[in-house]
Amino acid sequence: MPRIIAIANQKGGVGKTTTTVNLAAGLARARQRVLLIDLDPQGNATTGSGIDKRAATPATLEVLTGEATLADARRTVPAGFDVLPANADLTAAKVLLLQIERREFRLRDALGPIRDEYHYVLIDCPPALDMLTVNALTAAGSVLIPMQCEYYALEGLSDLLDTINDIASSANPGLHVEGVLRSMFDPRSRLSRDVSEQLQSHFGERLYRTVIPRNVRLAEAPSHGLPVLDYDRSCVGSTAFLTLAGEMLRRHHLKAS
Ligand code: ADP
Ligand code: MG
Repeated sequence: MPRIIAIANQKGGVGKTTTTVNLAAGLARARQRVLLIDLDPQGNATTGSGIDKRAATPATLEVLTGEATLADARRTVPAGFDVLPANADLTAAKVLLLQIERREFRLRDALGPIRDEYHYVLIDCPPALDMLTVNALTAAGSVLIPMQCEYYALEGLSDLLDTINDIASSANPGLHVEGVLRSMFDPRSRLSRDVSEQLQSHFGERLYRTVIPRNVRLAEAPSHGLPVLDYDRSCVGSTAFLTLAGEMLRRHHLKAS
């Protein structure tokens, strides 16, 4: 059974896409079979994985509407994982899905035939609690929440946790918080450390120990269509994502045994 993880936070710019792409690459390095699903019309995870999003059809939209299968729409990238790409066309999904049956189950249904080919399915969510994110949360087993350790970080978090609870009590009973990940962390900032402590007391074990530091290499890599591991293997961003992949594997291994 694959671990299907939605990377979600309705705030934009908190590190969802950076986490999805680089965690996918880190897990692939650890010999895991990984599928990355781009569920954001901005298509940043698609571009960041090295796929030209303008030429990417069929893509997530066609899979959600049933015009294409996931097996037909996915492609393998050089970093060693598969990607279901997305582009601006996906904006139409919000309206199209309203007219379709089982609208919140479209992604889960599409994953059915191929999910067992993977160890991990990572879903990069858009910055909204919309029908696309609902599809991700209905298909997922758990949610990884990247958080920037800044003053407003915790604001809005309760809306996300409420949405997770709603879906867990209706469409997807097993859904739980996989973990909270500190992204763009600056250890010299007092505020970063304060917010980090708050997260620690609020989430306890669910706070991932691995911290993703602010690192310019992580911001540069997407413009080359590469995960950071293939762009600069020795930078602190690469080390952080290898460590994160290791922590995730260890946690899942401990849970499974
Ligand atoms: P989201 O998907 O939540 O909107 P992104 O992952 O796209 O967030 O990150 C927002 C911006 O910040 C991007 O330009 C990205 O390259 C940059 N960024 C993300 N994480 C880091 C980091 N740890 N260090 C430096 N820049 C980062
Ligand atoms: Mg994003």
